[in-house]
Amino acid sequence: MAKQIVTDLNVKDKKVLMRVDFNVPMKDGKITNDNRIVAALPTIKYVLENGGKVIAFSHLGKVKTEEDLKTKSIKPAAERLSELLGQEVKFVPATRGAELEEAINNLKSGEIMMFENTRFEDLDGKKESKNDPELGKYWASLGDLFVNDAFGTAHRAHASNIGIAANIGEGKSAAGFLMEKEIKFIGEAVDSPVRPLVAILGGAKVSDKIGVIENLLVKADKVLVGGAMMFTFLRALGKNTGTSLVEEDKIELAKALLEKANGKLILPIDTVVAPKFDNDAPHMTVSIDEIPADQMGLDVGAATIELFSKEIAAAKTVVWNGPMGVFEMPNYAKGTIGVCEAIANLQGATTIIGGGDSAAAAMQLGYADKFTHISTGGGASLEYLEGKELPGVVSISDK
Ligand code: ADP
Ligand code: MG
Repeated sequence: MAKQIVTDLNVKDKKVLMRVDFNVPMKDGKITNDNRIVAALPTIKYVLENGGKVIAFSHLGKVKTEEDLKTKSIKPAAERLSELLGQEVKFVPATRGAELEEAINNLKSGEIMMFENTRFEDLDGKKESKNDPELGKYWASLGDLFVNDAFGTAHRAHASNIGIAANIGEGKSAAGFLMEKEIKFIGEAVDSPVRPLVAILGGAKVSDKIGVIENLLVKADKVLVGGAMMFTFLRALGKNTGTSLVEEDKIELAKALLEKANGKLILPIDTVVAPKFDNDAPHMTVSIDEIPADQMGLDVGAATIELFSKEIAAAKTVVWNGPMGVFEMPNYAKGTIGVCEAIANLQGATTIIGGGDSAAAAMQLGYADKFTHISTGGGASLEYLEGKELPGVVSISDK
């Protein structure tokens, strides 16, 4: 169902509550990667330029102890936002109360403020994360309109997304541009793709990805499987996998998936093995029929890269989730680089990465600008690829 987007709202002189995803990585109180803040700028700028008053907020990490109140303040993100906007972002170190309410009421059109980490409300009974009805109602009462641009938390039903949406009033909530982009790209790729749709799945565990595999086996024309996941499938085919990562309790499921796949699922034909999980261990490439009993597979081999590249070359839409090998170690990054290369060489295809580590891999290996879309939400994009409805999206007013 089509959802309102921020351009459907009249924001002029309105107090616009804006849920952003500023759950950024930090080290010693310093932001180490501000991608998520940058990604929220278009929506924030749009509202400010159209005379709205922005009240931005986000969660940051998990808040469980009094100590977290000292270390998990979202103030550094407000400061970074201010630098990026070239405009003051007033920060209120509270999630409720007189100081917050006063700051909101003093806000002028075209001004922006931020309040404290929404998960500070979790210390006393998980009010934010359990969507305490009073909290959503209270936050909604602070503004006139609600814009949700936090795709990264759209798979969660929290007070700061669905709680506010439920209380802000009919027709008064909308998706921001980032949310709109994520829904459009991932939604269209899976539900109405230009075919052939080739899905590439990898990463650590079959158990994390069962839903994605099942959905994509139905929706995609081909499903290429790499990563540690491949070994559970190889075992399902009765092959020896040495000391590779295998989920013993998922072998039967892998068998069932292979049967259902009807030839759509393509497994690697070779793998790079080493005696231990170590970049500097002596490694070699072997056929999947000859994995030594005392070695583990840490990447797909050159023949597999060639095989996968051929499949990718025919694609009009590519969805990629999960690295092909232990890309963090240079000696086992070739499979993931190979997939990146094959995707980068595609002309006129829509190419999408969903998944935190796959996105990190593409960035780390220098391929970020070769993709049509890299999702900012690891967990949310996974659930979306599974074909699940995201509560944060569902709760937004329909067009
Ligand atoms: P994403 O976040 O993109 O969904 P995952 O979290 O499922 O991806 O998996 C990423 C991790 O899988 C990476 O840390 C990578 O090192 C690991 N991995 C990939 N292949 C292997 C392998 N053959 N053996 C062990 N770990 C692997
Ligand atoms: Mg991951």
